[in-house]
Amino acid sequence: MKFRISPVWWPVLAVASPVLVPWLLVRNRHFQQGRARATALNQERMRRAEPLEMPELESLELTVLVEWKAREGFIGDAGVSYWIKTELGSMLYDVGFGPARPALAHNAEKLGFSLDQVEALTISHLHCDHIGGIPAQRSRQVTVPEELMAQAPKPCFLPDRAEAKGFQVEQVEAPRSLPAGIASTGPLARSLFMFGWTEEQALLAHLKDKGLVVFTGCGHPTIETILEMVGCLSSEPLYAIAGGMHFPVTGGRGNRAGIQLQTLVGTGKPPWQRIVDEDLSQTIAAINSAGPERVYLSGHDTCDHALDRMMRELDAETEVLEAGATCRL
Ligand SMILES: [Zn+2]
Ligand SMILES: [Zn+2]
Repeated sequence: MKFRISPVWWPVLAVASPVLVPWLLVRNRHFQQGRARATALNQERMRRAEPLEMPELESLELTVLVEWKAREGFIGDAGVSYWIKTELGSMLYDVGFGPARPALAHNAEKLGFSLDQVEALTISHLHCDHIGGIPAQRSRQVTVPEELMAQAPKPCFLPDRAEAKGFQVEQVEAPRSLPAGIASTGPLARSLFMFGWTEEQALLAHLKDKGLVVFTGCGHPTIETILEMVGCLSSEPLYAIAGGMHFPVTGGRGNRAGIQLQTLVGTGKPPWQRIVDEDLSQTIAAINSAGPERVYLSGHDTCDHALDRMMRELDAETEVLEAGATCRL
C-alpha cells in the first residue's frame, strides 16, 4: 500500500505541525458536527419525500464523455461527464474538469456532442471534477468549454447555490422531475473533512419492464443513502446503478506532487483514517441486497483494486465505464 502523502513531505508536515495539529482538531470538530447534521437532514428529506411521477421509458442510453478509463482515441481523466439519452430527449450530467483539462472538449468533439443537443445540464455536486475545474469549484461557477455551449441558454439544474454563466440556473431543493423523462433525488448531504459540507443529487429514470436506473456523480452521500432515497421516490424495482461511489482504497486518481488527494479530501473520514476494504465489503453487501441487475462502475474516484473487487463480488452484471463508450441500458 502506497503512502498517501509522500515521505518527501514529512519534514514539511513536522515543521508545520504546531499549526497543522490545532487546525486539524478544529476542522475535525466541524466535520463531526456536520456529520450528525447531514444524517439528520437526509433522514428529514426522506421523511418528506413523496413518490415521483416518472414516465416509463422505452429506451435509455448512456454515452460517456469523461471518465478515468477511456476507449482508444479518447482522453481519460479523473472526472465525470455523462450524456444520458431517452426517447424524450437527453441530458448532460456533469462536465468533468471542463475547460481546465482537455478531456471533455476532445472527447465531445470525437462524439459530435454539443449542448445544442440536450434539453438540460444537471450537475451532481460542486466539486472540481464535476463542475468544470478547480477555479470553477472555488468560484462556485459551472464552467463548460466555449465550443460546447449551446446557441440558446439551456437550463442547468444545481444541487446547491452556484452560478452557471450562459445557462438558466435552477437550484434543485427536493426530489423532482427534470427534462427527458429523468428525475433528481434532490440534494443529499455529506460532511467531508476537507471539502466540507457537500450536497449531491443523483438522477433516476424508470425503464419500462426493467425498473429504476440510478446515476451518481461521486456518490458522496453514499450509495446506501442514495438508494434509500430512491426507495422513497418509487416502488419500482432497482434495475441499474451507474456512476461514482468513491472508493479510493489503495490509492486515488489524479495524484499531485506525491499526494493522493482523493484519499484525503473527498472522503467521509478524517485524513488520518483510510477508506478500507471493510467499508467496501459493506457497500458491496448493500448493493447486492438492493439487487440491481446491472452496475456500471466509475473509475474516476475508485481505485483498480476496488473496481476489481466489485467486478468479482457484485451479483449484478458489472462493467467499468469508459470515455467514448455508449451503454444501452
Ligand atoms: Zn468525482
Ligand atoms: Zn466529489
